[in-house]
Amino acid sequence: MEQLVSPRFMQDRHQHRIEHIAAIRQRIASQSAQPLSAEEEHDLLHMREEEKIARDVYLQLAERWALRPFLNISGAEQAHMDAIAALLDHYDLPDPAHDLPVGRFRTPDFQTLHDQLVARGLRSALDAIQVGLLIEELDIFDLAQAKSRTRQPEILSVYADLERGSRNHLRAFHRHLQQHRGEYVPQYMSLGDFEAVAWSEHESC
Ligand code: MN
Ligand code: MN
Repeated sequence: MEQLVSPRFMQDRHQHRIEHIAAIRQRIASQSAQPLSAEEEHDLLHMREEEKIARDVYLQLAERWALRPFLNISGAEQAHMDAIAALLDHYDLPDPAHDLPVGRFRTPDFQTLHDQLVARGLRSALDAIQVGLLIEELDIFDLAQAKSRTRQPEILSVYADLERGSRNHLRAFHRHLQQHRGEYVPQYMSLGDFEAVAWSEHESC
């Protein structure tokens, strides 16, 4: 069984994330809020809930399986949620995750997806890793779509940040898939795109 990460390491990361989000908030606040299209608004609301799916599923799987990515990455997903929340504030949009505890979702489709992913991830450590891969490729796929529908620089920059995070998460889960000698067939990305990300180097943010 792999050693869990040290509290000190988690604390340093946590501090780094708080500073990172503060910098993002400051950068966003320095721009004037241009009116958004209905699509741009929908994409922001959608991504807020999708990042919550990632955080909530990983938190629950971290309690069941002593696998490093789930603990580490749930913290990163919190930062992703916070970055989208900063955009929702900036554009004066309602937060679909407001006041909702871990595991609860405003949008029924997200609730269903969450429930399915948690149920599957609790079956075995390999299932949990495959759930991680599914969440990350869905995130990369949806972020690419959302990016193609906006030209707002502050939105694009947050999406790019989240995409880079998701590629790193996908690589981390993929390494664990190898260790478990598991198979994975991508559901959202093409096999070529998936493999290109999975086998490439970690990106620093
Ligand atoms: Mn994310
Ligand atoms: Mn992720």
